Amino acid sequence: MSEEPTIFEQIIAGDIPARIVYENDTVAAFLDANPLAPGHTLVVPKEPYERLDDLPEGLAADLWAAVQELTPRIESAVDADASNVGVNNGSAAGQEVPHVHVHIVPRFEGDGGKPIHAVAG
Ligand code: C5P
Repeated sequence: MSEEPTIFEQIIAGDIPARIVYENDTVAAFLDANPLAPGHTLVVPKEPYERLDDLPEGLAADLWAAVQELTPRIESAVDADASNVGVNNGSAAGQEVPHVHVHIVPRFEGDGGKPIHAVAG
């Protein structure tokens, strides 16, 4: 875990403004400040583990349960047809914030976006 509070811990604490859309004891979700699509949401463990493999088993289960619950609700809220769900796990993969976060990016028929398997080119 990081020593300094991560930007996501500061969001969860209410010290940085964000649109929190979901919260339970262990997990929170908020709208991405630079959305790739309407409804782009980040789902995070409240504790600042840096990478997926750092998460204790129970917390990994909590995180995934929240992703499963939220994905259809977000799609419905923005009238999306589908979504990309993914994690940039480590800086070489593009992880900018060292606090595990799952991106839920709503997708729309004909939106011209790429599937995750095309992201690395
Ligand atoms: O996976 P990666 O670490 O690159 O993604 C970080 C995400 O955190 C970005 O999509 C960025 O827009 C988002 N972010 C945010 N609010 C902040 C800082 C970053 O939503 N205050």
